Amino acid sequence: MVIIMKPSATKEAREKIIKKMESLGCQVHVSQGESYCIVGLVGDTRKINPSQIEANVHVDRLIHVHHPFKLAGRLFHPEDTIVEVGGHKIGGGTPVIIAGPCAVESEEQLMTIAQAVKKEGAHFLRGGAFKPRTSPYSFQGLGEEGLKLLKKAKEATGMPIVTEVMCQETFDIVAKYTDILQIGARNMQNFPLLKKAGKSNVPILLKRGLSATIEELLMAAEYIMSEGNSQVILCERGIRTYETYTRNTLDLSAIPVIKELSHLPIIVDPSHATGKWSMVEPLSKASIAVGADGLMIEVHHQPELAASDGAQSLKPEKFARLMESVRKISSVC
Ligand code: PEP
Ligand code: MN
Repeated sequence: MVIIMKPSATKEAREKIIKKMESLGCQVHVSQGESYCIVGLVGDTRKINPSQIEANVHVDRLIHVHHPFKLAGRLFHPEDTIVEVGGHKIGGGTPVIIAGPCAVESEEQLMTIAQAVKKEGAHFLRGGAFKPRTSPYSFQGLGEEGLKLLKKAKEATGMPIVTEVMCQETFDIVAKYTDILQIGARNMQNFPLLKKAGKSNVPILLKRGLSATIEELLMAAEYIMSEGNSQVILCERGIRTYETYTRNTLDLSAIPVIKELSHLPIIVDPSHATGKWSMVEPLSKASIAVGADGLMIEVHHQPELAASDGAQSLKPEKFARLMESVRKISSVC
């Protein structure tokens, strides 16, 4: 961190700020120019409240040298993190495919879809049992009954499970059934939930918030990691923009940006990003081409009867084609 004092700052004002920074445990290096005095801070700056420094009338500017996401950032952890779940490496160079219905609706529905995606080479089965719906009148998910069906599907196919946890009250019950806990876009800044996830030892799939910046996503990961859980997988799932033709706008640039800033694996969910099944395959190919570590794809054998997100769900034969194109793209990347 670097504090640039105003040219008008008195000697007393400079000394006061230097003493304060030293008392917070930083080493202070002062560089006095003709008119500006630059105060460089080295060491652990976590105890410093930047807003208090900026409120000082003698301070011109504060410059951050490091990003605030110390644990999620690459600076102190240059090598890529690989999250290993059920024998699959997420972040290991080979794209991991998570596929399944938006919501678990019935045993027959889940088993049909699970068998179909397994046949095409999906590694994980997704399916919501607790659904974060925009309308309280829409299907809210089967709850624990849905979790039991996911467990059955895992036993039948061998695919580990990814399912969403929506609140602290149901955290332990969801964690008991799943291999990866998903924290959805709407909960990306639910800080008590992030802290709870940080205290668990289940890997977390953290989706980018509807209007979250990349820094906010990485700070949400930091919340989980700072509580002790370092197994975090990020997910770009589209953000709100002025464009209305697609449900959201897939921010493809977030993948190389996050690869530069963070060591955590990042996957893409083109289903929720676009809201349209016909866009899912092209954007899956693009995601792999820009370096995503995997994809999350919604699949339904009868999208026209799906309880949620039918319009963005691929039929199994379309999913098979997607898998084929993803294999081709990843073989040349
Ligand atoms: C989901 O994956 O089921 C979901 C609701 O996604 P998002 O949180 O990205 O909207
Ligand atoms: Mn969905």
